[in-house]
Amino acid sequence: METHQIERPWGETVSGSERQRTSSTMEEPICRLTPKKVAIVGGGLVGALNACYFAKRGFDVEVFETREDIRQAKVVKGRSINLALSHRGRQALKHVGMEDKIVSQGIPMHARMIHSTSGKQSPIPYGKKGQFILSVDRANLNKELLTEAEAYPNMKMNFDHKLKDWSPETGLMTFT
Ligand SMILES: Cc1cc2nc3c(=O)[nH]c(=O)nc-3n(C[C@H](O)[C@H](O)[C@H](O)COP(=O)(O)OP(=O)(O)OC[C@H]3O[C@@H](n4cnc5c(N)ncnc54)[C@H](O)[C@@H]3O)c2cc1C
Repeated sequence: METHQIERPWGETVSGSERQRTSSTMEEPICRLTPKKVAIVGGGLVGALNACYFAKRGFDVEVFETREDIRQAKVVKGRSINLALSHRGRQALKHVGMEDKIVSQGIPMHARMIHSTSGKQSPIPYGKKGQFILSVDRANLNKELLTEAEAYPNMKMNFDHKLKDWSPETGLMTFT
């Protein structure tokens, strides 16, 4: 059993001038003066991507993932079906500089094929002519996101950490 204490962000007092200085655009760190600690539970797609966003904005980030590091694992547990990456997902990746890399590894899917019982095939396009979504290897995307997140100096990854309990009042998190 292991415990970690995180600072409660809503308990923070920020002066007016400091707030003005720190509320800048998405591209700039907002926590230059007093970096706050953020704990992210789950290093899946959302957790790893969010870790990049928080780290990019200057927070001290710790990720706690119950699985072992999937980049080292012989067998990756969890969902294995490929992911269909659309415009929204690409935008999310773009803001952490990963869109081109992931898109280059994807397989374009222009339409889904409907197979009727009579054997007739009817394609239903995913978009207008020339538009497509991308079939992406889910485990690889997760690995790439973890590697990207880990590259930030203000990031710490904790694998084999399962959240058992946490207290919103004290910020105390208990892991097994
Ligand atoms: C069959 C299927 C197909 C899908 N296809 C698509 C698709 O084509 N396109 C698309 O955009 N979305 C798709 N989705 C949705 C997509 O998979 C999810 O939106 C996405 O995986 C959510 O990411 P997540 O990080 O929240 O969850 P997950 O990817 O499940 O990650 C959660 C992580 O948290 C960890 N965890 C869980 N409990 C704890 C704990 N107590 N302590 C520490 N760590 C913990 C897990 O080990 C895991 O690594 C699909 C989902 C399914 C089931």
